[in-house]
Amino acid sequence: MGIQRHLVFTSLCLAIVSLRLSDAALSDEPTFRAGAATSNITPPIGSDQTVGASKRQATHVHDELNARCLVLDDGQSKLALVVCDLRHISAEVVAGAKQIIERSTGIPPQCVLVSATHTHTSTGAKLEDDGEQPYYDYRAFLTRRIADGVLRAVNQLQPARIGWDVAEEPTQVFNRRWFLMPSRGPIYGAHDNIEQVDTNPGYSGLLRPAGPVDPQITFLSVQSTAGKPIALLASYGLHYVGGVPANTISADYFAMFADRMGELLGADRHQDPPFVGIMANGTSGDVNNLARYSDEELEKRGPQPKKRYQPFGKAREVAYLCADKVMQVHKSLEWHDHVKLSSLQRTLTFKRRYPTKEEVEWAEAVKAKKIKPMSTSRYSTYSTVLAYNSPEMPPTIDVVVQTHRIGDLAVAAMPFEVFAEIGLELKQRSPIQPLMNISIANGSHGYLPTPEQHRLGGYETWIGVNKVQLDASVKMVDNLVEMLGELSAKGR
Ligand SMILES: [Zn+2]
Repeated sequence: MGIQRHLVFTSLCLAIVSLRLSDAALSDEPTFRAGAATSNITPPIGSDQTVGASKRQATHVHDELNARCLVLDDGQSKLALVVCDLRHISAEVVAGAKQIIERSTGIPPQCVLVSATHTHTSTGAKLEDDGEQPYYDYRAFLTRRIADGVLRAVNQLQPARIGWDVAEEPTQVFNRRWFLMPSRGPIYGAHDNIEQVDTNPGYSGLLRPAGPVDPQITFLSVQSTAGKPIALLASYGLHYVGGVPANTISADYFAMFADRMGELLGADRHQDPPFVGIMANGTSGDVNNLARYSDEELEKRGPQPKKRYQPFGKAREVAYLCADKVMQVHKSLEWHDHVKLSSLQRTLTFKRRYPTKEEVEWAEAVKAKKIKPMSTSRYSTYSTVLAYNSPEMPPTIDVVVQTHRIGDLAVAAMPFEVFAEIGLELKQRSPIQPLMNISIANGSHGYLPTPEQHRLGGYETWIGVNKVQLDASVKMVDNLVEMLGELSAKGR
């Protein structure tokens, strides 16, 4: 509709500004702008204690870790979306970065989302717990670098158009919690209790997965008014891929997806400013990339060829598959010259997790050396149980949740490793469609199973790796749906 006229001006600095004179522009509709930047957050070699499962120091950097920042501006308000190549991100670092961002750009904290991808070959796993340890000020460095990234994205704001859609890649996500065949015998939990499901239970004797997966890749794309790609932000519910050599820092498949998207969108490596690809973690608390099938399914499939991968080969395969799926949908993307932005943030106060009477009795008996624990779990030991039983531990945990509206796309941000079924429920109940879920956002407070999954047991439900009251997911989802309702009621 309407006649589109493009007037092209060349400014003194030779930047080309394309101004669209549409009905909207004539009626004072402000210009929609977007800017993106990456900010390097790689820790120094040797100083990180938490690279990979080995918990040894990094001796090599395969690819840099970045805070990938996208800022949108509808002429009235701005929204900053930041995804960091980190395993976790602490609420304190996020709050610190937001303070600097507000000072330097005026963007208020509720309009800034900072999340971690959950790459396991990074630092950050202990940021929350090790406040006392000398961290060679990685926290301070990280805080500033995140804020710098947002400021740089603001500096690079340019007139833009935006589109969003949903692709699917169902072949790379597997629920990692399983009911086992009776032949596997009882499943022992961390405190020598018997549980109904096992996490990462090997590859045979499997009955059925304990939960679903979310195959969707929800994405938004911004390009300049001349059609040059500025950024693409996607979200997929996959823990990480791995296949990284020991003691090596890498941003995993998330960064490979980001690079590949640039290639597929035809971004020039030398374009100025550079294209920024971003892959956030969706709801992947119980989902990983290890292909597991029930015994029944294996029988049907017959013997499977065992694929061998070079280091990083698997991550690249997953990244490229996801990028291809996004690109197929991207070809017919509907572009919007202007959308409205709105954001809501709430701080939810949860009771912290308390151990059961049985767990305390078990932990005290282990401590007194009256029993020797069968379990060798290093994730929820007797000392974890006793620490959570101590009156010295604060009784509540405050967590920040956010919802953002970008035209008819909604974003929900949650500071946990959220189970897939929680994300699916949110998507189903959201009055704004589609919904992009981003977890490990604005903080990192452990796994978030549903009350039903807590009853089944398994690693993610253990005290210590789960920190909040057992029905926290119900309260969080209800709050987020209410917030999405408020954003929806505001209209476009
Ligand atoms: Zn995890």
